[in-house]
Amino acid sequence: MIVGGSTLPDEYVGLSDELAEERIRAKRAEYGSRLVLLAHHYQRKEIVRLSDFRGDSYALSKRASQQGSDLIVFCGVHFMAESADVLTRDDQRVYLPNMAARCPMADMADPADVEVAWASLLDVLGPGPALPVLYINSVAELKAFCGREGGTVCTSSNAKAAIEWALKRAKRVLFLPDQHLGRNTGKRLGVPRERMVVWDPELPLGGLEPAELEKAVLILWKGYCHVHTWFSVEHVRAVRASFPKAKVVVHPECTEEVVDLADASGSTEFIVNYVHSAPSGSVIAIGTEVNLVSRLALEYPDKRVFELSRSLCPNMFRINLKNLLWTLERLDESTLVRVAPELKPGARLALDRMLTISEVRK
Ligand code: SF4
Repeated sequence: MIVGGSTLPDEYVGLSDELAEERIRAKRAEYGSRLVLLAHHYQRKEIVRLSDFRGDSYALSKRASQQGSDLIVFCGVHFMAESADVLTRDDQRVYLPNMAARCPMADMADPADVEVAWASLLDVLGPGPALPVLYINSVAELKAFCGREGGTVCTSSNAKAAIEWALKRAKRVLFLPDQHLGRNTGKRLGVPRERMVVWDPELPLGGLEPAELEKAVLILWKGYCHVHTWFSVEHVRAVRASFPKAKVVVHPECTEEVVDLADASGSTEFIVNYVHSAPSGSVIAIGTEVNLVSRLALEYPDKRVFELSRSLCPNMFRINLKNLLWTLERLDESTLVRVAPELKPGARLALDRMLTISEVRK
């Protein structure tokens, strides 16, 4: 549930970045260890620089669950702050500096549409039609649905482990909302193409025949991330033509064709580690959000790191120094993220399963 709006008061609009940063540091010092600032890898560099911890959604949700601080300021998008609110104690408060920072892919799986899809699957396939595996990029209502139906949440770091976990317990998986992460992961697991089907929520029975559903191993929700589906086969070919020694590394939210052509694919954390471990002098073209790529290029000047093509997440970009300062100076209802209490137990169950699956795999 979103509390409050996202409009920045006039007094903050004209502030210089220098002054905003100075006031942020002063506020941080005032709160001391009571407050922790988490930043997703796709945040602007000035936000990442000020954070206590940076990471992908998995690392940050785990970090949130381990925090002793009672005030958590989450520089990311709304579903991440919701997950932090679910995983933290009731006396801890989670703030998002701009409530308009939402993930369009998360919003492609509307909870009402998912309930309709689930009822249809029950009709056609009978009880226990599938286990839901829910990418963490989804709203809290769906995490509660997933917990209720015995499924788990996953991130791009642990999608393979999560699907394997689910397929030990059920004949098929309903994977949502990102069809590309689901398909790329299914392929890594050796699921045949004809046993991965796409559920279109705008069509009766997802646009599928009962027989297709019956033999499906993976039912993929028709969602996507526009930041990652932007990368094309042509982008990969152009980089290879200009930089024959370049390694191309992409995120698994990219299309299957792009992932197949790349030298490597993996989560944001995987990409960060790939660049870190590459020998000096490496040439690496990266297919993910441009703020991360630019920061990696700055952090590893001994390697040539550049974007496969420029693709920015406008929602991550909505967090800036001014609205971060506004949040810190008020810490009021206008930026407080609160998941409805009745949704928390189911959502927590699904998130806890994810954390457990990942721990077991280590
Ligand atoms: S990069 Fe894609 S998945 Fe991540 S927040 Fe932006 S739109 Fe959502």
